[in-house]
Amino acid sequence: MKNWETVMQLVGDGESGRIEILRGQSEDNEWVFKTKEREEAKQYPNFLEAFKSLRTVWNHVTPSFLNSLYREQVWDELTNEGLTKENLKPWAKSCLPEMFQVAEYIKASSKTVVFTGAGMSTESGIPDFRSRSGWWKQVDPRTVATIEALEQDYPLFHEFYSMRMRSLQKIKPHDGHNILAEWEKRGLVHLVATQNVDGLHQEAGSQHVEELHGSIKQLKCQQCEKEATTDEFLEGKPCSHCGGKLRTCVVLFGEALPQQAWKQSFETIKEADVVIVIGTSLEVYPAGELPFLSNGKTILINLEEVENDFDVTITGKAKETLQRINELLVIVE
Ligand SMILES: [Zn+2]
Repeated sequence: MKNWETVMQLVGDGESGRIEILRGQSEDNEWVFKTKEREEAKQYPNFLEAFKSLRTVWNHVTPSFLNSLYREQVWDELTNEGLTKENLKPWAKSCLPEMFQVAEYIKASSKTVVFTGAGMSTESGIPDFRSRSGWWKQVDPRTVATIEALEQDYPLFHEFYSMRMRSLQKIKPHDGHNILAEWEKRGLVHLVATQNVDGLHQEAGSQHVEELHGSIKQLKCQQCEKEATTDEFLEGKPCSHCGGKLRTCVVLFGEALPQQAWKQSFETIKEADVVIVIGTSLEVYPAGELPFLSNGKTILINLEEVENDFDVTITGKAKETLQRINELLVIVE
């Protein structure tokens, strides 16, 4: 065994002293783990086994170093083992430092705005229609979701939105949507501004939602703007009032963005202490400008790493990340 390196260091009170977990590479390049104060004792085939061997000291030590590779494993193990809130706190800071920070920001904020994009809905099973793999019938939605298609090729326009509406009927909000709705009830979130048109935030129970790109759950006549139902649209009926073409209230390429939703979002973000952007890298103008209207803390939760100016960046899935931050809200205080 060669090149032992420390992957976790724990500082204890009194008898616990200082404890380390080290890893080294065997001759066939497998990692092997050991704990420092038991130099001659047995080695462990993975980090978690070594960590579990220290179970008796978990409540008496504070982690002073933890390799980021093992943070989530440690956190999952500790939460599964039911440590008390007080004993979890020092671990939370080491295991989930960014999320812990976010939980602290949320707790301290008097106005928090959440801004969501396509990545918020992917864990509910909604494909991203703008991505190449999500393209429908090899047709680029940017050529179908347009005013031109609505006016000049209504059958194709109608087929595209019927397909999207039918696929959405089976889709439910996930726990991340539920957590945001719950935070609103608890006074921790004041507005959800979303680029999504799927209505999942409202379905989860969020009351204050601004839909920046409109809604696929609302339908209207293109000619007289009278409201219509999903069934009328799916059955291919014309407007019951004027005979015009029915359409969803999703903003089409080439159409103006809904002024009221944007204005409301602008104003609330300007006053916000915390803006949390989830599931979009916000590279598109004008959405990209929105979070930075706030003088408060800006947080980005996104699966893809992108260069950005946010105060805190968490690379991860929306649902998982929100679940963890929600756990941490109980511990922060
Ligand atoms: Zn009409």
